[in-house]
Amino acid sequence: MQSAPRYSRIPVSDAGGMAVHLPVVDIGPEPRKLAVIAGIHGDEPSPILLVDRLVVALRDLPLTAGIRVVAAANPPALMQRARWSNWDDEDMNRVGDGGGGPALTRRLAATLCDVVAGCELAINLHNFVMRTPLLAIQPPGQSAERHARHQRYIQALDPHVVWVFGSAPEDIKIFNSSIDAAMEQRGVDVMAVEMADLPELDEPLMRRAIAGLLRLAVLTGCVAPEAALTPPPKHNAVFVHRHIIRAPGAGIFEPIAPLGGTIETGEVVGQLIPLERPGDRVLVTAPVGGWLIQRLGQRFVRPGDMIATVGIVIP
Ligand SMILES: [Zn+2]
Repeated sequence: MQSAPRYSRIPVSDAGGMAVHLPVVDIGPEPRKLAVIAGIHGDEPSPILLVDRLVVALRDLPLTAGIRVVAAANPPALMQRARWSNWDDEDMNRVGDGGGGPALTRRLAATLCDVVAGCELAINLHNFVMRTPLLAIQPPGQSAERHARHQRYIQALDPHVVWVFGSAPEDIKIFNSSIDAAMEQRGVDVMAVEMADLPELDEPLMRRAIAGLLRLAVLTGCVAPEAALTPPPKHNAVFVHRHIIRAPGAGIFEPIAPLGGTIETGEVVGQLIPLERPGDRVLVTAPVGGWLIQRLGQRFVRPGDMIATVGIVIP
């Protein structure tokens, strides 16, 4: 049995004569239970590739409930291939449900919250510029019941790393301004998932992500368990707090430490080739020990850009 995707466009705004729509894809019968979102940040192509693979995989499965895919959640930012569009310079991931504001990014956020309402779970997909394994986010401030559900989602996704947000009042304040928090307010559980940028999103990571999404489709009752033949989960996720290492200056970053391994305090992560003083390399070292969970490849960096993160393992 085949489940044909149904493509539609939800009107968002008439921006000075140019109509802006939120494109959605629905697969499977009502009721809708799972939403998968990509493209909130316009410079993150990996999630768009992933949802394309997901829709192709779902076409061949007998679905028992509906899955709604929003592949291009922020069309103006995607057109500009920028994190946010310069029409209003607002980060769609950070405006909650838009708060009724007239700016286009806020209207898009409000529409996105509307189109996922009624789903049990929404997966909010992002990619870092840094090389990143499949990484799920554990947000702060969850009730015991919500926390237990989140652990089930993490088990089903089977990521390499779980980034556990801090639970200080400042961390909770940051999370509460997110679109994830706004969707949670509407009764939708949200799991944010990060991965590597193109072209570093390799086939094993892609396969692991697709298998995880299909298991989440089973968990939410959208796909019968026997229909989704995915590789068995590895369950080797490491739960970490994240310590960010930023570029000390402008130049080309060259990685040295291997990704995914342990790193000691003071160990060299890589070096910065300065723009104006070739030969005068600056070593970048880890200020704390842990797992090197994310790291740039060879890239231009500006002062303050994220170049690596050390995951401090939570026992
Ligand atoms: Zn993002």
